Amino acid sequence: MIRNLLLAIGAFLLLAFNASAQRVCASHDVLEEQLLNNPLLREKMEEIERQTEDFIATPAGVRERVQVTIPVVVNVVWNTASENISDAQIQSQIDVLNQDFRALNADRTNTPSIFSGLIADFEINFCLASQDPSGLATTGIRRQQTSTTAFSSNDAVKYTAQGGLNAWDRNKYLNLWVCDLSGGLLGYAQFPGGAAATDGVVCDYLYFGTVGVATAPFNKGRTATHEIGHWLNLRHIWGDANCGSDLVSDTPTHNTSNGGCPTYPHLSTCSGTPVEMTMNYMDYTDDACMYMFTAGQKARAQALFVSGGSRVSLLSSTGCQPPTGGGTCGVASGLSATSITQTTATLSWSAVSGATSYNLQRKLSTSSTWTTVTGLTTTSYSLTGLTANSTYNYQVQTVCGATSAAYSAASSFTTLPTGGGGCTDTYEANNTRATAKTVPVNTTFTAQIASASDLDWYKFANTAATSRIKIELTTLPADYDVRLYRGNSNTILAVSENAGTTNETLIYNTTTVNSSYYAYVYGYNGAFSNTSCYTIRVSLSSSNFRTDGSTDGEVQELDVPVVFENAAFGMFPNPANEQITVEVPMEADADVQVTVLDPSGKAALQQNRVMAKGDNQMNLDISRLSNGIYFVEVRNGKSMSTRKLVVQR
Ligand SMILES: [Zn+2]
Repeated sequence: MIRNLLLAIGAFLLLAFNASAQRVCASHDVLEEQLLNNPLLREKMEEIERQTEDFIATPAGVRERVQVTIPVVVNVVWNTASENISDAQIQSQIDVLNQDFRALNADRTNTPSIFSGLIADFEINFCLASQDPSGLATTGIRRQQTSTTAFSSNDAVKYTAQGGLNAWDRNKYLNLWVCDLSGGLLGYAQFPGGAAATDGVVCDYLYFGTVGVATAPFNKGRTATHEIGHWLNLRHIWGDANCGSDLVSDTPTHNTSNGGCPTYPHLSTCSGTPVEMTMNYMDYTDDACMYMFTAGQKARAQALFVSGGSRVSLLSSTGCQPPTGGGTCGVASGLSATSITQTTATLSWSAVSGATSYNLQRKLSTSSTWTTVTGLTTTSYSLTGLTANSTYNYQVQTVCGATSAAYSAASSFTTLPTGGGGCTDTYEANNTRATAKTVPVNTTFTAQIASASDLDWYKFANTAATSRIKIELTTLPADYDVRLYRGNSNTILAVSENAGTTNETLIYNTTTVNSSYYAYVYGYNGAFSNTSCYTIRVSLSSSNFRTDGSTDGEVQELDVPVVFENAAFGMFPNPANEQITVEVPMEADADVQVTVLDPSGKAALQQNRVMAKGDNQMNLDISRLSNGIYFVEVRNGKSMSTRKLVVQR
């Protein structure tokens, strides 16, 4: 329905991606923005930093020592099938985390001898959750299809209402979101202290795990290791500043981030020119070239899990334990059928907690044999190839891992009949003026444009007593327009063709009586709806119709004094090809009629509008007018002004 061809002035910036990919992590940028927007976050993070410093200041032998297994829920938010990464790819990422955070990764032996003594086992493990927040069985993997083609670091992926998936309780789970991140972003994390709803880590689906669609040079699962490092309160090793501090005592000072796979030794130009620890997970190097955390980094992460630590609640989470008693696998409910046509329908149902998949059965109500679809991982399914005007039954079964619930009670829907669709249209076939159906006047009725080639012609007569004509279209399901013709003439007496509205009103205040006036209703650019009717009413009146919809003193309306200033108006562009904008300065609120007249003085286009005091703009689509000279007339009562318009393509 793009009628207003307002071409954006400006240039498109094409983002070309470098052939040698560079790690891009948005964690620090996201933190800076959160700090700007939330003054309390700074206090909260300073409090966490004090607790961390206290922990680090405690002699190692006296410190609390914590081993933790963190329940993880992986929220896969996918648009295209390839983004819906496999269970195997997800498991490969969990495996990497359990190596990297326990210093069990095979490539740790690549660590240069000057750093090998610093390699730390964080004593942090990860499990895919076995129990969901309701205490039901889960695989720890949630999948949600989205219409969002790509996400950014704005956290939309963390909200169901914004096309993502809401987090599970962060006091019990580490939420990982996997989706398509735009702009070359590999991932980002939220630091301890941030809001519960957005707590967790987001990774691009191409840089998650080691198998499936995992893509080099970030296909060793280190994006999640790095981001979970942030989630565990670790800063970038260069301190996000030139020779900055990462708040860790045993890491060297880096100039800035390192990318790719630097040759050892890479010397810093910061004070003391130390060898940079480019193989630390908190640098920006390629996955194959980062393989260690240090003891100092471990201390910061461990501080989160001791008494008073900001993530200590995870120690008491039962998320890694299967539900006691096996849990219950709920029966599916909330079944509904939408987008029903003659041959298709979309079935959906409410998500069941603990469900790992769903099975769907359907059949013609007259049949005794079900057709079954198994292993559905979303809560909707589109049926095609249905028979028109037929009732179908359908039911859904919840599968929770190894157990299944009973099938839900069956629900049903009926496909649309051929021809008419799902609403009352008693005037088909009326595709031509010759086959126009005579309709009652001053009566509201419904009709349908059921296909791109469906046109609706209606015939009616006016009388000397009631000669003025108004045609109203309402509840338009698509971009429909209406024209008025008389007799066999091809002259369009009036047209209403607003873009993007659900109604059209055409007014033709005439004294010409004829037994054959025609209302012609059509879908703009083939617009139609095979599911919804529109409403039409042809009204006749003895007095002029007002365009503001009121009925009082109708005839007087056209006699109000001059109200547009100097009876002059602006119009651009001229010459024009698709659209013109008419600018009318008004001295008071009043009805205005804008008419485009062809050289013979016939109305080719007309729009009526109540304009407010001040400057008003009205856009007119002239794309249907042939090349030539026209006159644009703006009229209010006795105030009238005309300008010449050239249509030229
Ligand atoms: Zn980072």
